[in-house]
Amino acid sequence: MGTNEDKFKRVISHAKEYGFIFQSSEIYDGLSAVYDYAQNGVELKNNIREYWWKSMVQMHDNIVGIDSAILMHPKTWKASGHVDAFNDPLIDNKDSKKRYRADVLVEDYCLKIENKIDKEILKAAKRFGEKFDKEQFIITNPRVVGYKEKITIILSRLGKSLEKEDLEDVKNLILELNIVCPISGSKNWTDVKQFNLMFGTKLGASSETATDLYLRPETAQGIFVNFLNVQKTGRMKIPFGIAQTGKAFRNEIVARQFIFRMREFEQMEMQYFIRPGTQNEWYQKWKETRMKWHTSLGMGEENYRFHDHEKLAHYADAASDIEFKFPFGFKELEGIHSRTDFDLKQHQEFSGKKLQYFDHELNENYTPYVVETSIGLDRMFLAIFSNSLCEETLENNTTRTVLKIPPFLSTYKVAVLPLVKKDGLSELAKNIYKELKLEFNVTYDEKDAVGRRYRRQDAIGTPYCITVDHQTKEDNTLTIRDRDSMTQNRIALKEVENYIKEKVSFNSALSKML
Ligand code: ATP
Repeated sequence: MGTNEDKFKRVISHAKEYGFIFQSSEIYDGLSAVYDYAQNGVELKNNIREYWWKSMVQMHDNIVGIDSAILMHPKTWKASGHVDAFNDPLIDNKDSKKRYRADVLVEDYCLKIENKIDKEILKAAKRFGEKFDKEQFIITNPRVVGYKEKITIILSRLGKSLEKEDLEDVKNLILELNIVCPISGSKNWTDVKQFNLMFGTKLGASSETATDLYLRPETAQGIFVNFLNVQKTGRMKIPFGIAQTGKAFRNEIVARQFIFRMREFEQMEMQYFIRPGTQNEWYQKWKETRMKWHTSLGMGEENYRFHDHEKLAHYADAASDIEFKFPFGFKELEGIHSRTDFDLKQHQEFSGKKLQYFDHELNENYTPYVVETSIGLDRMFLAIFSNSLCEETLENNTTRTVLKIPPFLSTYKVAVLPLVKKDGLSELAKNIYKELKLEFNVTYDEKDAVGRRYRRQDAIGTPYCITVDHQTKEDNTLTIRDRDSMTQNRIALKEVENYIKEKVSFNSALSKML
């Protein structure tokens, strides 16, 4: 499918053309880094959210969900540290007047080196053919080893400078690496400055009495401030978790890469409250559990990796990202953070309310520690969508575009197609459609030749098409076509529902995580 850049362009245009994602307010030329989910996209997005919810809440006896408000008391963000420390380091290019995230400029530079490594591997794989041992090549080829070392040195210096808030050194690093502005091509950079990412808004009608609020930049704080309410009313015993999904807002400096980095996005977070001292054990456990969740989707284990943080956020004592191989390279999809007792202690101090837990087994009061898992729903959508989009050349040399979304997440589970409109086939097919609708999200299509209809369903990722033909009238059988193999089998009408149910239920994926 051409280069990664081509692939990414195709992902974006496919998402629009087939009704998955539109630019927000497009008729007004759009709002930068804000997107709307369209008729097919919203179904896929809901399914991903539901799969996350089922595996995190329903499948765990000691995790419950909440849905807290987007607007919160302004002290929340003072306590959480967001007012003072939720910043990104930004740098401007004086010639193009474009603004960049200084850390992203350096990371992109490293990504280019990684692309060089990939090219070396590809070249060598071609040269050595079947004998090629990739692992061995990576650790022994001097050029690859050199590139890898370079990346490690750069990222470690970046991490240390950011941690120390040494913004001058971040600028020096950019200059030393000869990083130029992609627009002007110049190295005429300003100093690096910190920029707060929260969106402000006002509560109240008159300007004198209005209170300044923020749109929440993460859903986690809604969980922390409800910790005691949930623990008491749910009679929860530590360890236990609180999960929620919902919108978050960040005034991202460099909002780009489609729905990867948006200004309004959705998070799926879970805060797990534990005994102090057990954080490392739970941190490891949740890293494992979340990786299992990802691999349960069947998108290839090689497309995921952990990236343990050098630079820790103000609240964390350990943090790791699960990175996914997006069309533009490995990037953060989910964060797993050991948040210590930072948040609860801060809220206790700022609210003056005790936020402690009495542990009957230990006969002692303490502020619980927290391990959190935090994933962006939109990024997960992009991961699935980009990984599923393929262009296949068929035996007769035609091509087809197919979205190989895991069937249990797809927008429609099945399409009902009468072979032709006449001879009562439409009516028969519509009746089947009505029946199946009670169980699944089903679509019906009778326009154009059946081959074209199959292609339309392939392009939106419908895993099964059932075709009602003349034989259906005679013996109550129909053909069922599989999206990925394109094979067609005849099955009895009465078996259709169970056949599809088995293939599209969450159960088999969920059971992989037991
Ligand atoms: P990044 O380093 O990419 O800015 P982050 O480390 O700030 O992300 P977290 O604060 O850990 O992100 O948020 C948890 C998750 O929320 C991320 O792993 C990501 O999936 C998602 N997320 C964060 N910011 C955005 C955004 N602007 N648009 C879409 N998803 C986002």
